[in-house]
Amino acid sequence: MLRQVAEGVLVHESEFCQSNAVVVHGRAGVLLIDPGVQDHEMACLANDLSDSGQAVVAGFSTHPDWDHLLWHPRLGAAPRYGTARCAAAVRDQLSDPNAKADITDHLLETGIAERVPLDLYGLITALPAETAQIPWDGPHVRIIEHQAHAPGHAALFIEERGVLVAGDMLSDVLVPMLDLNGTADPIEDYLAALRLLEGVAGDVDVVVPGHGSVGGADQVHERIERDRAYVLALREGRVLGVPGVPGVLGDPRVGPSARPGWEWVSDVHDGQAQRLARRGERDGTPG
Ligand SMILES: [Zn+2]
Repeated sequence: MLRQVAEGVLVHESEFCQSNAVVVHGRAGVLLIDPGVQDHEMACLANDLSDSGQAVVAGFSTHPDWDHLLWHPRLGAAPRYGTARCAAAVRDQLSDPNAKADITDHLLETGIAERVPLDLYGLITALPAETAQIPWDGPHVRIIEHQAHAPGHAALFIEERGVLVAGDMLSDVLVPMLDLNGTADPIEDYLAALRLLEGVAGDVDVVVPGHGSVGGADQVHERIERDRAYVLALREGRVLGVPGVPGVLGDPRVGPSARPGWEWVSDVHDGQAQRLARRGERDGTPG
């Protein structure tokens, strides 16, 4: 079911990890950002769109993680854009003939593996590097690219509607997940990305994270601050584990205060804290 979050901007939520697909109304059809995860959910979205007489005229994937690269045949054959870095990362993934089988394997423990259609996976058209907005006939959608969660990750700012589509940043359920592969300073990258988002935050009325709840204007700064506090805590090597203390590092997303069903986020936190600690030992700098 599509839910309107601002004029001409609607969200379709997946059961899987509370993933949010975003629909933006344009003049001749809609822009679809991160379409969703499960086959029946994307079919439902396609139905909702055709019932309201809307065709998809452009797609966009915020970053090259599997859950943001899916597509359903009924959504049609519009170009599906990503940043140049995102598209390059996807090409690289797909150069491994086992890439799709690996995704299915990875999904076995979630119980949804057979409901994730991979036929149209990752067919991303690269936008030229430094492209400032999505090329389509609709409200301006500014591309705010940054290195933080994944290569070529982009948040999208629909200024006329006051909507920030954050990709996998600014979630109320997921802690910042840093890209620890192949970047020299993942902590500083993440902080820089948060500063970029902060640069538009004053004009944001609605923030839509890739996973989690849609937030209002009052949430934007709060989420940026919470993510920054988390990343700074990681840098200082403060790690998980004070039993009985609500939240860890004062962050409600990890430890005993994690939302039911999201306990695994604490394991993600533990894992990246440990990897960062090992990096620090190797190069002698904290984090
Ligand atoms: Zn995601």
